[in-house]
Amino acid sequence: MTERGLRAPFVASRHLSHVDSSTRSRRCASPPTLNAVAQLSLLDAATHSYDVVIVGGGPSGSSCAYWLAKAGWDVLVLEKKVLPREKTCGDGLTPRSVRQLADMGLEDAVAATGHKYVGLRANGFGQKLELEWPATGAFPSYGYCITRLDLDDLVATNAANAGATLCTGAEVLSVDDLGPVVPGHGLSSCGALTVKDKASGQTVQVKARYFVVADGANSRIGRSLGAARNRQWPSGLALRGYFNSPRHDDPFIESYLDIRDHDGSIVPGYGWIFPLGDGRINVGVGLLSTDKRWKGVNTTKLMETFCAYADPSWGISPETATGPATGGKLPMGLAIGPRTGSNVVVIGDAAGTVNPFNGEGISYGYETGRMAAAAVADALLGAGSSALVDFDKELDAAYGDYYRVARVFVRVISDPKVMALCVGAGMRSQWLMEEILRLMSNLFRPDHRGAAELGYDALEALTRTLPQGLAERLLAAS
Ligand SMILES: Cc1cc2nc3c(=O)[nH]c(=O)nc-3n(C[C@H](O)[C@H](O)[C@H](O)COP(=O)(O)OP(=O)(O)OC[C@H]3O[C@@H](n4cnc5c(N)ncnc54)[C@H](O)[C@@H]3O)c2cc1C
Repeated sequence: MTERGLRAPFVASRHLSHVDSSTRSRRCASPPTLNAVAQLSLLDAATHSYDVVIVGGGPSGSSCAYWLAKAGWDVLVLEKKVLPREKTCGDGLTPRSVRQLADMGLEDAVAATGHKYVGLRANGFGQKLELEWPATGAFPSYGYCITRLDLDDLVATNAANAGATLCTGAEVLSVDDLGPVVPGHGLSSCGALTVKDKASGQTVQVKARYFVVADGANSRIGRSLGAARNRQWPSGLALRGYFNSPRHDDPFIESYLDIRDHDGSIVPGYGWIFPLGDGRINVGVGLLSTDKRWKGVNTTKLMETFCAYADPSWGISPETATGPATGGKLPMGLAIGPRTGSNVVVIGDAAGTVNPFNGEGISYGYETGRMAAAAVADALLGAGSSALVDFDKELDAAYGDYYRVARVFVRVISDPKVMALCVGAGMRSQWLMEEILRLMSNLFRPDHRGAAELGYDALEALTRTLPQGLAERLLAAS
């Protein structure tokens, strides 16, 4: 049996503590605020050659920066926006994310700002079930909802406090001196980056020994190095808006498994309502590319239909909306590759790490950031580019099998008839839905062989036995 995704949270402790972080830290003597750190000018950054430069200060980039800086490496994060910044998201942290935040010493800060919740209320085909997060040992049995405005600021500040240098309002425009693709890698190597200071319009060149690309779902920098999405594999698209609600502090997040378009037909996707505890709720719809109607679906209309369909007690209406809904892509299932060059690693959404089962990407951003930090530290310590090949293998070991199963699952579930059958049957059993929640959230228990583990193993064996792609095609045709 494979280790499923369970390895990921534990992988990064290997070679990250070889140096006392105080010996290399470029931060102020007293713990700096983000603004103090972020004011390091891009011009200063350009005069220095870093151990590692990270493109993007979202979950994956900031986690990578934190783990590297904590170990004493000289790290620069280039973030094109000025923090705190909005990021279109459901704002939901699962126990998997909470585990990573706790490991970065941030759980108290998240608890002080966010809203703690205990589980998922699943709605579908007229049924409603309250499913508490399981006790798994490795992960807590609760999550938080917290806006990305607050969350990403906290995590980036934490990286800066650990010694990373953070330049905000610094947009990476291009990769300079693209090197050849070295055997064992699929991406070009990177000589330097051209970076624009958005406030002054000035551009500079920034150099490093290693580069980490964490620039999110659109990943212009990843693509310029040669990364591309496998378009045969599922992808997602989601839209969210904020509403004032009397149930803003509900102890459950809510999902809808049978969202419909305006003519009442089921659409392959899901709807959510995540309480933020600050008077607001985050409401959204996610869509999967596995349905032929994908390109034709009017997402704004779908969102309106969902808002009208959701339980009225949430108080969702045009009058309670606090602004227009915004959308974004969900690159999932490790559909983006290659992920390494001889001195480059691509992580998070830029590597397509969103979980196809549930659209969760924050935890996988933290985890891949941490794994990349360990690999780059190994490379810097002398292992060179082979350590990055190991990163790729580690990523595959952590998520490869699980995401292959997930890709098949979303293809199968995209057939409205199959969806109605499976969800309709599942929703009649609390126990079964609890096991499905564990499977879909990648919260397996190493010490336990429940239905989630057994069901996963059966699906995994099926997708492994059949030749590449055949399982997806056969199941899709069934
Ligand atoms: C509508 C929606 C709802 C979602 N809901 C959830 C949810 O509830 N829970 C969950 O776990 N996941 C959710 N996700 C997925 C989650 O948002 C992502 O998986 C996560 O943000 C990935 O983190 P990242 O660091 O890889 O990328 P990002 O968070 O996108 O961060 C990338 C950063 O790079 C910066 N950047 C980009 N280009 C450049 C450049 N050229 N130079 C410098 N900086 C650059 C960006 O400004 C950004 O700050 C949702 C996604 C969407 C679209």
